[in-house]
Amino acid sequence: MRRKLAAGNWKMNGLGSSLAELETLSKAENTRQTDILICPPATLLSRAAAMSADSQVMVGGQDCHAAITGAHTGDISAEMLRDAGAEMIILGHSERRADHNEFDEHIRAKARAVFETGLTAVICMGESLAEREADNTLDIIGGQLAGSIPDNATGENLVVAYEPIWAIGTGKVPTLAQIGEVHDFIRARLERRFGAGVGRSVRLLYGGSVKPDNAADIFSVSNVDGALVGGASLKAADFQVIIDALDAT
Ligand code: PEP
Repeated sequence: MRRKLAAGNWKMNGLGSSLAELETLSKAENTRQTDILICPPATLLSRAAAMSADSQVMVGGQDCHAAITGAHTGDISAEMLRDAGAEMIILGHSERRADHNEFDEHIRAKARAVFETGLTAVICMGESLAEREADNTLDIIGGQLAGSIPDNATGENLVVAYEPIWAIGTGKVPTLAQIGEVHDFIRARLERRFGAGVGRSVRLLYGGSVKPDNAADIFSVSNVDGALVGGASLKAADFQVIIDALDAT
């Protein structure tokens, strides 16, 4: 039985005052079957971890370096994020792939560092609009799965987020059938590569314009174990509706 996961990615948004949103989420009567993760900017991580310590809300990082320590000015390692309170680290977000020229091999190396540190990697993948329109989505996802996930992945150290690039921050969402097709495909590929036990235990998130008013429909799709949410995770009231929708499925 996979636990559900509602994950919020604040991206490069948030100052100290934004922690009031996290405080509201942490104080809510959250439950039961749904894990909750907020990935604030690294500058807020330790304060966020302290604030959510006695709650059901976990905090995480948005990226890390592939090395554990070393001469990499301006970078942050998985171990440092763990030290600041992170339990999970997002890797391979399409914005990092685009802004920082990250490819699957970099993401795989970073994921190895996350695994070594004892944390969970939330590895993102998704097709561009051109790739979707050329009917190449499954080929692209198959390549990203093979290239970005290390061989020692398990249901504990890996979460996969399917995030069509054209749906991120645009208000556009694939049809439920399209989401289901990709999630079923990812599940089958994970089972083929890692065996049924591991393949069935890895959680699969959908990400891309998940909002309070579409979350319940998206969570009804098979093999959707939760969501990676950008814009709608910035306000506790919006994110709480999404958490509640997930919890109700
Ligand atoms: C994201 O950044 O991962 C994301 C899904 O953003 P949004 O929910 O704003 O589309």
